[in-house]
Amino acid sequence: MDLENLWRLVLGEMEQKTSRANFATWLKGSCFLDRRDGVGCVGLPNNFAKEWVQNKYHKDLLGIIRIFDDSVKKLEFVVISEAAEEAHKRAAAAGERTSPNQSQISLEFRVDPETNLNSRYTLNSFVVGSSNELAHAAASAVVQDVGTKYNPFFVYGGVGLGKTHLIQAVGNEILLRYHGTVRPKYVTSERFTNDVVWAIRNKRMEDIKKKYRDVDVLIIDDIQFIGGKEKTEEEFFHTFNALYEHNKQIIISSDRPPQSIPTLEERLRSRFEGGLIVDISYPEYETRVAIIKSKLQQGGRLLSDEVVDLIARRVKKNIRELEGILNKIVFYQDKKQTDISRKVAEEIIDKSIQAFSRPVSDAQVIGAVADFYNIPTTDLIGRCRRKEIVEPRQVTMFLLRDILGLSYPYIGEKMGRDHTTAIHSFEKITVELTKNSNLNQKMFQIRELINKS
Ligand code: ADP
Ligand code: MG
Repeated sequence: MDLENLWRLVLGEMEQKTSRANFATWLKGSCFLDRRDGVGCVGLPNNFAKEWVQNKYHKDLLGIIRIFDDSVKKLEFVVISEAAEEAHKRAAAAGERTSPNQSQISLEFRVDPETNLNSRYTLNSFVVGSSNELAHAAASAVVQDVGTKYNPFFVYGGVGLGKTHLIQAVGNEILLRYHGTVRPKYVTSERFTNDVVWAIRNKRMEDIKKKYRDVDVLIIDDIQFIGGKEKTEEEFFHTFNALYEHNKQIIISSDRPPQSIPTLEERLRSRFEGGLIVDISYPEYETRVAIIKSKLQQGGRLLSDEVVDLIARRVKKNIRELEGILNKIVFYQDKKQTDISRKVAEEIIDKSIQAFSRPVSDAQVIGAVADFYNIPTTDLIGRCRRKEIVEPRQVTMFLLRDILGLSYPYIGEKMGRDHTTAIHSFEKITVELTKNSNLNQKMFQIRELINKS
């Protein structure tokens, strides 16, 4: 991948992680100048921005860049031009006001570039209740007996219920317990797929083999996305076997059990079923209260029992959502510097739940665009090169990013295109919307269709 595209992907991810103002002020004007001997060189427009980005975003940037290119082991920051000093001083002032939100609880983001593990996920911070106690016990057992008894270890469950937390925690505990002599590596299946696709294109399959077979514990998140991608499945199967035969531990998460991943190859499925399979279900009330209290404690915050009870009663099916609402409430309380009342907490919850309650799927977005332009879905997501398809396709990619926040590689995959096309489409439509009222009109109607679908 060339430097420019690589940096675009990195910024795309950073954009999701930082506030709009911070992103515009500090990161938008950055560029990626060089990548040599494991050192990546990031250019910033002035010294001020250089210092700031280096201090605040170094770790995040390194963590993300390594998702796309893990030959990068280190980042350096340099000033590319002292020009436009005035503009940057102004931007800097704006940045101070919107500097990282101090009110959020436990959202620190420390990704180890070697293992891709985020140190915030530990078994200790994983609150145990009847919905996840088996999974938790199994995870602890895997830490004791790496690679032998419970291989592979397969965890499944719904969105936001703690799968990523748990499997990363196993990796972190292994690092601690064996003092780094047992080497884990965490990867999302999306990332794994990208690597395989990249390697095939660049004829670098050997690199991939080495990278994934040269670990002691391979942790693959959201395996359901691998299903149906032949080459990737093939490579995964071989990696799996190679590791398995050498008693290396394989840990897998999925949103459903192996037998329900329809496109998963039979031989892979039966391999999964030969290991230890556990599920995580919805947390019951007591666990939800315990989770809220644990997050408050981690952040050194307090909420009244009444408000804790209220949150636990209202938010039942997704711990990520629970955390989001908790953060909002704590943020509000910090801002007002007074204990939040039940009524205000209730209003915040109502608003948040409304926003969450209608999850839109990528299929709905694609379906609505196809409907609107009156073309078959197969044309929209296929290889068809007809001119009439160009706009609908770009609009689809734009909406997948805008509404669902999907990553560019994922969108590319979904649409039978590569990630650069997805990036280009998103940018093209973004610009077009600022000047083309006709397109604006269409976009409005398509969004209506999506909401009604
Ligand atoms: P999934 O991968 O299943 O979608 P995550 O592991 O990303 O879910 O969990 C969503 C959020 O909820 C994370 O911030 C995670 O730390 C938190 N979380 C999930 N389960 C627990 C738990 N049992 N105790 C504490 N925090 C949890
Ligand atoms: Mg997850």
